[in-house]
Amino acid sequence: MLTTMNEVLKIAEARNIAVGAFDTPNLENMFAVVKTAEKYNVPVILMYIPLLEDVAPVEFMAPVMVAVARNAKVPVAVHLDHCSDLECLKRCLELGFTSVMYDGSELSYEENVRNTKIAVEYARRYGADVEAEIGIMGGREAGGANVGSIKPEDMYTDPEDAKRFVEETKIDALAASFGTAHGFYTVAPKLDFARIEKIKSLVKIPLVMHGGSGVNAEDYVKAIHCGIRKINYYSYMGKAGVDGVKSCLEKHNGEVAFYHEIAAAATEKMQENVEKAIRTFSMQS
Ligand SMILES: [Zn+2]
Repeated sequence: MLTTMNEVLKIAEARNIAVGAFDTPNLENMFAVVKTAEKYNVPVILMYIPLLEDVAPVEFMAPVMVAVARNAKVPVAVHLDHCSDLECLKRCLELGFTSVMYDGSELSYEENVRNTKIAVEYARRYGADVEAEIGIMGGREAGGANVGSIKPEDMYTDPEDAKRFVEETKIDALAASFGTAHGFYTVAPKLDFARIEKIKSLVKIPLVMHGGSGVNAEDYVKAIHCGIRKINYYSYMGKAGVDGVKSCLEKHNGEVAFYHEIAAAATEKMQENVEKAIRTFSMQS
């Protein structure tokens, strides 16, 4: 059933688990995620990422994501991931997203607050929830949270800033930077758990881990105990899909008659990958 991010995170809080939030730029991703969530009876979040607008235009994706969520047997929120354009954010709310992430992490603190407040005002008109970010996550291709000459520690979320940011903006969930990064890890990330605990003690809303795929199971569990309630996940699921395609082609010596056979093989591998993630996030062994 279609629901909001807040409803899903409330369940996570009550069960002391994290909800998996998966970027789903195609149907194969969506099915892999929703089927797995139903199998383990956990709520889940489908996310649209504007970065992939060229391959998956939001006008077409939003109605499909909403329909998949409505038909699911578990609560599913439909979320806009990393949006730094307020007009795009507004368009996605009109299209039925039940939550949005406004990402002003690269702006000054004041500008980030100002725009996040506008995002909150828009979202409230649609009964939708808002996630926002403070601190810089960065990409893994730069060796973890490392942009230019800035040291990773300097990009981590400052707990006092986080407290002030949440009070000023009235957001529903906070993306905090504490050692994870986007993309594929070339070196294992070192997570600053003490920072997460500190932020959690000051901020009374659910915390979000970005760059979630590729983190080891033990670290996920520790992060969840420190207060992470939403884990954003994509890269390694996407890679699993590619592995599925490769083994399907190898198995048939490159002779596959129909594209849907390849898509089904990709879905199967992604489902295996999502299954591992969801079991860890929801503490099911
Ligand atoms: Zn992210």
